[in-house]
Amino acid sequence: MTVQDVTLSGQQLIGAQDVPGTGEEFHGVDPRSGERLEPAYRFGAPADVERAAALAWDAFGTYRETDQETRAAFLETVADRIDGLGTTLTDRVTAETGIPEARVKGELARTTNQLRLFARVVREGSWLGARIDPAIPDRTPLPRPDLRQRKIPLGPVAVFAASNFPLAFSVAGGDTASALAAGAPVVVKAHPSHPGTSELVGRAIRAAVAEHGLPEGTFSLLHGGRELGIALVTDPRIRAVGFTGSRQGGLALVAAAAARPVPIPVYAEMSSVNPVFLLPGALREKAKDLGPAYVASLTTGVGQLCTSPGLVFAIDGDGLDAFVESAGAALQETAVAPMLNPGIQQAYDAGVRRLEALDEVAEVARGGEDQTIACGGRAALFVTDGTAFLANPALQEEVFGAASIVVRVRDQAQLVEIAESLEGQLTATVHATPDDHGEAAELLPKLELIAGRVVFNGWPTGVEVGHAVVHGGPFPATSAPATTSVGTRAIERFLRPVSYQDTPADLLPAELRDGNPLGIWRRVDGELGRD
Ligand code: NAP
Repeated sequence: MTVQDVTLSGQQLIGAQDVPGTGEEFHGVDPRSGERLEPAYRFGAPADVERAAALAWDAFGTYRETDQETRAAFLETVADRIDGLGTTLTDRVTAETGIPEARVKGELARTTNQLRLFARVVREGSWLGARIDPAIPDRTPLPRPDLRQRKIPLGPVAVFAASNFPLAFSVAGGDTASALAAGAPVVVKAHPSHPGTSELVGRAIRAAVAEHGLPEGTFSLLHGGRELGIALVTDPRIRAVGFTGSRQGGLALVAAAAARPVPIPVYAEMSSVNPVFLLPGALREKAKDLGPAYVASLTTGVGQLCTSPGLVFAIDGDGLDAFVESAGAALQETAVAPMLNPGIQQAYDAGVRRLEALDEVAEVARGGEDQTIACGGRAALFVTDGTAFLANPALQEEVFGAASIVVRVRDQAQLVEIAESLEGQLTATVHATPDDHGEAAELLPKLELIAGRVVFNGWPTGVEVGHAVVHGGPFPATSAPATTSVGTRAIERFLRPVSYQDTPADLLPAELRDGNPLGIWRRVDGELGRD
């Protein structure tokens, strides 16, 4: 793999042009030391949104008509170019986020594999949703028309990069990959927490756009604050939005999109506390092993993962005592690690103080301290009981970081009552032995109503990117529970079906023509096939 020599310019990438921002100056900051990183960046202006959206709209007509092979090869080139950045990229990610090198490398592989996976999806073609109901001219009392359906992209997509996955949920992350795969040009608003990483990845995408002769507006990268974000969501040429971040941020974008003269969908992934249910048999057999495993999951990424286990529920008793004791002991041994940025660290500390101040919540343990780390996050474990939990909805609120509450529940009936009372979640986890399957069978129908992914005898952190995964769920986990932001189904967010009725054969798109010239899966008169 060749390492590309890239010098950061501190500029926005609007189509093929480097465009300096004219607003507030900001820098990436190393959260380990507090050191300001060069170069300086500046927020863009409304004129930059206008230009990026206009170019995206111009590109849309051509880009959406690219054939499957061209689009797939483009996605693979993006992946190759990002991989080719090598340590230039991974060093910058670590400097801007404090994420250790090993995790950055894992996230890089996940990001480029995700792009390659979408390339395979594009080639395979079933996402086009081709369906043909042939005409039945002699049907009585009325003839049936010839109806042919395919999916087309909604139009240019605005992507709001997340802070906590600077590669996999950022400039070339799942939202961008799935939108580009669907045939939608993308305008990214970079996350201000990692501007250099964003520029490096943005340049890789832009080079791939040029290499494949695609219109320059296929991709743009803007820097900016809330004003720019709202300008982007409300630009009439933007037709859908992908977002990962806070509930408050996601809801602001949903409100702005709904208030447009022509409202558009916002796929916002927001807040989840990922409840874990430890059933009695599991506690009897392995309480002491479950404690450290839970702490390992909780402290992964300093707890800054959307799937971090923020709540644990179990029926009170000796098994739960052993679990809490082993978890507390493991948590005390955890070292302070840098959180992503000062804002997130301050929000975490405030969240922990809020829990500490509650009479019904007791502290079990805190992680180690280290004042030399500028944005250090100290893990925190609390305990409360089921009745107090049911009485105080604030205990369901996400504290973004490695803080979690164990809830001592009275009995199975209260466990089920709690499962029914929970807000929407990305995940819900059950630890059970075969002895617990009666209780688990009662819980599961409740959990599938609140969660996008139900995990058995594992931990929610670690999201597989594939065909069957759901990274979504009812509000507030997301604003659009019928879909997923991870995995190949994510492409569906940016597509809509269109039917062609009695359309002359030579005017039909290739995927709907007789003889199946593209060789894709189609449903003809209800039967799936490739004929
Ligand atoms: P964030 O504050 O929601 O920001 C994400 C992006 O949305 C940024 O580009 C931000 O721009 C923009 N934004 C936020 N509020 C907006 C508004 N009212 N109008 C327009 N744009 C807005 O998320 P964050 O910076 O990543 O982290 C802050 C908090 O979000 C964390 O403490 C945590 O609670 C939560 N979070 C949750 C997850 C999850 O997966 N559940 C992931 C990451 C973060 P500005 O930077 O200019 O505000």
